[in-house]
Amino acid sequence: MYQHKVTNTKTIVTSHKKRLALHCVHNLTRTAMTSSYEPLFKSKIVHIDLKGSPPKPTYFSELFPLLAKLGATGILIEYEDMFPYTGTSLESTPALNAYTPSMVSQINQLAKENHLEVIPLIQTFGHLEFLLKLPQHMHLREVPDQPQAICPTHNETLPLLFQLLQQVAKLHPESKRIHIGADEVYFIGRCTACQDRMNNKLWSTSDLFIDHVSAVAKFVNGKLGMRPMMWDDEFRSFTEPQLVQSGIGSLVDLVVWNYKPTLELDRDIWTKYLNVFDAIWAASAFKGATGSNQQITSVRYHVENHRAWLRLIAEYRDTPYLSKFKGIMLTGWSRYDHFAVTCELLPAAFPSLAVDLLLLQYGENHVHLADQEAVQYLGCTGSFIFQQSQDTYYPSCNFPGWEVFSVIQNYGQVMEQYAKVLNDSVVRGWLTDYNLAKQFSSPTHLSGIGTELSYLQNSFDALKRESEIAFPAVYDMNTTKEWFESHVKPMADKVSELLMGIEVLRSKNVWPRRPI
Ligand SMILES: [Zn+2]
Repeated sequence: MYQHKVTNTKTIVTSHKKRLALHCVHNLTRTAMTSSYEPLFKSKIVHIDLKGSPPKPTYFSELFPLLAKLGATGILIEYEDMFPYTGTSLESTPALNAYTPSMVSQINQLAKENHLEVIPLIQTFGHLEFLLKLPQHMHLREVPDQPQAICPTHNETLPLLFQLLQQVAKLHPESKRIHIGADEVYFIGRCTACQDRMNNKLWSTSDLFIDHVSAVAKFVNGKLGMRPMMWDDEFRSFTEPQLVQSGIGSLVDLVVWNYKPTLELDRDIWTKYLNVFDAIWAASAFKGATGSNQQITSVRYHVENHRAWLRLIAEYRDTPYLSKFKGIMLTGWSRYDHFAVTCELLPAAFPSLAVDLLLLQYGENHVHLADQEAVQYLGCTGSFIFQQSQDTYYPSCNFPGWEVFSVIQNYGQVMEQYAKVLNDSVVRGWLTDYNLAKQFSSPTHLSGIGTELSYLQNSFDALKRESEIAFPAVYDMNTTKEWFESHVKPMADKVSELLMGIEVLRSKNVWPRRPI
């Protein structure tokens, strides 16, 4: 390990000097290439999703200066159960490793020092699993066995949500906006109370949705003096007259999310939003959008998503609509929902985030420039996009948490090897559950695969050691443990099981006559 550290330090120093030199050259290139480009998004907000793998607050002291250098103007901090809720009805809600009030203040202060706006996000309709999973709040579920969405009609719902919002606002005295979520409300208008209300008022589920989010938005505007923002997806099926009539267009800023390389955004929906809402934000993704247990981030995939957004907004450059676009939120999902395993870790997706932020600065056609600058800013070498292949590997970079990025790269290589070995003809023909159960296999074939499996077992052991060394710079022990148990251990156990099976199979020297 000592040798490893020395090598890395040398590389860091070298790459730092190189970066300074290259940076001067690239500043000139950048000025020449982009001097005429007026960035389409004035605000670039980076989503920090704390519902999975929440970083230690100290990590933000290294992270925020880099985000600011890369052009970010703020952070969207999604607390979920990491916020220190208090009071009789909420004190059992925070995770046991939730941030303390002083940690939240520390994050605010660090953001302020780096001129980053802080927008807290707290869900107020669907995705309230962290709240509704608990026995004390289960009576507020819209559907009794589904802890996903809250009942908007229950008389305890709005007071509880207002408490959540009030507490979050109080610990963010300088924040001017708050994001109220409201995406993916999977259950609405199902309970008797909601159905009675809908029948009495001749409402559809759309009316019920609008009524609830309007009540929340009015509270945020009126009582908290903050501007509410919300995700757009529930409005996609609404008609324009419905939206106009509700008055929602001036109550909230709409955040339209799409994470695909080719924006799958129906033009009619988009036009409807432009006609109805006073302020619109785009939401792209730099991680957490390509698989619920994804660990390796494809820089190219997410760059294409950002290019697609830039192309779309550019169409409005010379129209009055342009003033409606307030900015972009670069989402970085850590879990698909409260119950899911974690997806990509933040430091592992940093190359993607850096290229995306720089691309937003320089424009859709400057992918090479954004890539080169990102490589330099992160103290890596090569390219994140144009040399990216299975063999591309960045043994040493120099950005906050790069050691975690390094572990995840090793993980990617080990998992490729694992998939290859498990798909090997010998494993599929001579080391199946049937072979093991019947203790019937060919020693000729088993020796070779045993060597490969032992090698894999060592690789999994090494990953465990490496993660235990690298992760504490960014994460507490819970994240380190969860990452290993969910993303490594099942495969490591499978390898151990096969190795033990080989031992049993090879202890046989004579075999029974068939049928066995
Ligand atoms: Zn209900």
